[in-house]
Amino acid sequence: MRIYLVLLGPPGAGKGTQAQILAEKFNLVHVSSGDLFRENLKNKTVLGQKAQAYVDRGELVPDDITIGMVKDRLMKSDCDNGAILDGFPRTPAQAEALAKLLSEMDGKVVSVPFISVPVETLIERLSGRWTCQAQGHIYHEKNNPPRVAGICDLDGSALYQREDDKRETVMHRIQVYQDQTAPLIEYYRKQNLLTEIDGTIGIENVTDRMITAIQEAL
Ligand code: AMP
Repeated sequence: MRIYLVLLGPPGAGKGTQAQILAEKFNLVHVSSGDLFRENLKNKTVLGQKAQAYVDRGELVPDDITIGMVKDRLMKSDCDNGAILDGFPRTPAQAEALAKLLSEMDGKVVSVPFISVPVETLIERLSGRWTCQAQGHIYHEKNNPPRVAGICDLDGSALYQREDDKRETVMHRIQVYQDQTAPLIEYYRKQNLLTEIDGTIGIENVTDRMITAIQEAL
């Protein structure tokens, strides 16, 4: 049986940061739909060209494109044990597609940690966020700075500010989350998979709570 964790929460909640830590702890692959899109944009693939306008505006890329892309990623052999999903699913149709795919692959979602953070904090976090060029490692200029300014601690690549982390786009992304993704909280709560975690208690404390929730579910 392959196991999958779905990290739920608004942009800036800390899903990417936590997914990186948990992937190592549970020996699972971190699959971030946002990173997959950014890679396609960088490499100017056909998929990247289709997604570009949506990502730039902070809107969701249409479900068929997104589902196909994540499905291809989850079929790769490094996902044989399962994966930690960060940023996917983001709509009820994506959640249904994921359930169907996993049922065909002898896999299931075992736990859905939902990281909740107030809107003012999200804005502050996203506008101070720096992302690594090479692998998408995440820093914050105040809360989680790199050892050397502008350089990723883990792989030495340059850090940059994501175009969609600029203030206007951030507000829109939060609105899109509330309209399209927040319904998944109830969807997973009804399946008894959801654990709500306060995302403002510090990175290590959030990790501890997530590990507890996941271990209870395994
Ligand atoms: P993220 O890095 O998760 O904030 O994602 C960056 C952008 O990629 C989003 O604002 C969307 O444009 C796109 N994106 C990422 N994941 C999804 C998804 N599951 N469904 C639709 N669009 C997505």
